Amino acid sequence: MNTVDVDEKLNIDKFNVDEDNAHIVLKQDEIDSHEFQKLIVACPANCYRVTENGEFHFDYAGCLECGTCRVLCGKTILKKWEFPQGTMGVEYRYG
Ligand code: SF4
Repeated sequence: MNTVDVDEKLNIDKFNVDEDNAHIVLKQDEIDSHEFQKLIVACPANCYRVTENGEFHFDYAGCLECGTCRVLCGKTILKKWEFPQGTMGVEYRYG
């Protein structure tokens, strides 16, 4: 049986991170931990995680633009979700 190393596959892709314009922004006032837990499990790029101090952490730099977080939490903890501008964002290799 063949296995797939997800981290190895992700490392093939190239990311042009738009430091001046985040394409995904979370609501900062109150983050629902139950909603955030959904994204920790569902995000294929591991953009959502809890730090060693128990704080919620999100980094859009490795986003694959799959839209999963928008579908799951677009009306709860996400303030903004849009595709990156122009040549920014993920550049897939091998399709
Ligand atoms: S769009 Fe996909 S890859 Fe990007 S943060 Fe949301 S779930 Fe993760």
